[in-house]
Amino acid sequence: MLEVRGLNVSYGGIRAVKGIDLDVAEGEMVCLIGANGAGKTSTLKALARLLPATGTMSYRGQSLSEWQVHELVSNGIALVPEGRGIFSRLAVEENLLMGAYSRKDRPLIQQDMEHVYHLFPRLYERKKQQAGTLSGGEQQMLAIGRAMMSRPKLLLLDEPSMGLAPLMVQKIFETILSIASTGVTILLVEQNAKLALEISDRAYVLEGGLLTLSGEAGKLIKDPRVRHAYLGE
Ligand code: ATP
Repeated sequence: MLEVRGLNVSYGGIRAVKGIDLDVAEGEMVCLIGANGAGKTSTLKALARLLPATGTMSYRGQSLSEWQVHELVSNGIALVPEGRGIFSRLAVEENLLMGAYSRKDRPLIQQDMEHVYHLFPRLYERKKQQAGTLSGGEQQMLAIGRAMMSRPKLLLLDEPSMGLAPLMVQKIFETILSIASTGVTILLVEQNAKLALEISDRAYVLEGGLLTLSGEAGKLIKDPRVRHAYLGE
């Protein structure tokens, strides 16, 4: 579904991502783990066309490099950004509707809103509430819910666990799994390597802008190099 070859991202003279190759097959959940500053967010932003990059990126055989951001969304790619990026002055339900802005199938939007409320009953309870007044965990739910409103086929998730209490992280990850079980392909960027490896099919390890390890998540979680560097052993 997604094929990336030789991806480079630079900030001025600093190379943050140094020619990485990455594949995600339809229906897979793949995670990209690595320490702070390894280049995970830069990779995801490049895929979402939010940062200039060189190399090739193709989605279902079409080059992403020529697409504008709105074309990504209408072709089934949605990003849940680091920091969530919700519209804090708008109500929960208005934020969700923003996620459907590119869609023309109005009658189905209400149905999808109900699906999001089913995934996150907390959002239903707070649908009229200003999004900026939600807790961090609820804002993360909203960011994921808003992305789901575009009916994504490929969901790019950037650090969904960031800044959340363990119970909330667990809830968010359970929902990510349930989204994956409906056939949505997921590329997950996470600093919480343990959780990410536990729920993913495959994983890539990024260090200083380079991919150093990759493989089945179940194997990597047992790899001594991963256990030492990312699982605190
Ligand atoms: P984090 O978990 O902290 O977000 P990350 O693995 O996602 O880490 P990136 O945010 O992609 O890493 O950063 C990769 C490198 O690029 C780092 O050295 C970072 O300092 C640098 N970088 C990121 N954003 C910018 C920017 N806007 N301007 C300059 N350098 C940047």
